[in-house]
Amino acid sequence: MKKISILKSKIHGKGIFAAEGIKRGERIQYIRGERAMMKTRNKKDSREIAHWIGLGKFSWIKTEGTPFRYINHSCDPNAAIMGTKTLVALKEIGNGEEITIDYSMTDADPYWSIKCKCGSPSCRKYIRAIYTVPSEVFERHLPYIPKFFKRLYIRKQLRRKKVSA
Ligand SMILES: [Zn+2]
Repeated sequence: MKKISILKSKIHGKGIFAAEGIKRGERIQYIRGERAMMKTRNKKDSREIAHWIGLGKFSWIKTEGTPFRYINHSCDPNAAIMGTKTLVALKEIGNGEEITIDYSMTDADPYWSIKCKCGSPSCRKYIRAIYTVPSEVFERHLPYIPKFFKRLYIRKQLRRKKVSA
């Protein structure tokens, strides 16, 4: 596992930073945290679980009390969650660089929406559930997208195509 530290972030609040160099494809850390079930019914529910990481339709990892509570989103991330729990590097990450993921890849909550200020040229401005991301973003994240979210995206895309056909 790679060394990480929690430091002040330029993106938002605190963030997770590499405390050593990380190569593309390397495992950074295993995401820890208690599992929880939660079915959101409105935006208020969504806000309460804003820092949780999605595992499935209503299942989540509670990140409070772990470093992953602080992982920030970027629309051009340098890391991703592989197989629901393993944080892997999507590109070379230098010592001292902030580690980011694309939150949409592990979120299926229809009420969830946050304004993004990641500053990347490909910023989507608002980030929402996985099925709202453009297909090139989805494709770039394959093979890292957890199975549940992959299937959900494909199902919703097919439905959209049928409607517009
Ligand atoms: Zn962004």
